[in-house]
Amino acid sequence: MTATPKIKTTLTANRERAPLVYARLAELYPDIRCTLDFKNPFQLLIMTALAAQCTDARVNIVSVELFERFPHPKDFLEVDQKEIETIIHSCGFYRQKAKNILSTCRSLMEKFDGEVPQTMEELVQLAGVGRKTANVVLGECFGHQGVIVDTHCTRLTNRLGFTKNQDAVKIEQDLMKVWPPNCWTLFSHYMVFHGRAVCTARAPKCSQCSLRDLCPFPDTREGKKLAR
Ligand code: SF4
Repeated sequence: MTATPKIKTTLTANRERAPLVYARLAELYPDIRCTLDFKNPFQLLIMTALAAQCTDARVNIVSVELFERFPHPKDFLEVDQKEIETIIHSCGFYRQKAKNILSTCRSLMEKFDGEVPQTMEELVQLAGVGRKTANVVLGECFGHQGVIVDTHCTRLTNRLGFTKNQDAVKIEQDLMKVWPPNCWTLFSHYMVFHGRAVCTARAPKCSQCSLRDLCPFPDTREGKKLAR
């Protein structure tokens, strides 16, 4: 049975609560930053694609060799896909990722003169680049705020009552209505950090959570009471 929230989750109530949640998280994670060690937009674009179903730490290790060997999109197009697969093997799904990297690099060279485009419309035209990756690049490299919806963001924003959706595009739209626009990128990072450290998928640490008094569903997981 779904628990009855004591905290209201209407749009108006959520708009009032969102800045309080943000302030609490800002205090908790003062030095937050993107955990991918990129040097330019092209590297972040490729690294974000590699990070799907993989840890940022692993991607950072693999990327050192990858970008030493291929610093520019045109460099990727001069080798066989197998050579890329060998380097990124440990990131998982290496065949599909290598294929997408090559397609992305081809599009960058053919349509954008080797540069990473700076709009959502252009970025999502690239192979393997969805709204999540595009928002990461736009937010981190070009100063355009964007809501980044990954697995942590999906889980936490549902538990925090900011959305009732599981679909990434719908969640993004819900959060854009609730979160102040100047906070979109950082709020997304807070969801990842808090999701890893406290509000984990299997066993959220509600009793130790700094957001407990601001959370409509403490001690529950997807509406089910936690076993203690
Ligand atoms: S109180 Fe529990 S469910 Fe709510 S945000 Fe914290 S850890 Fe997650």
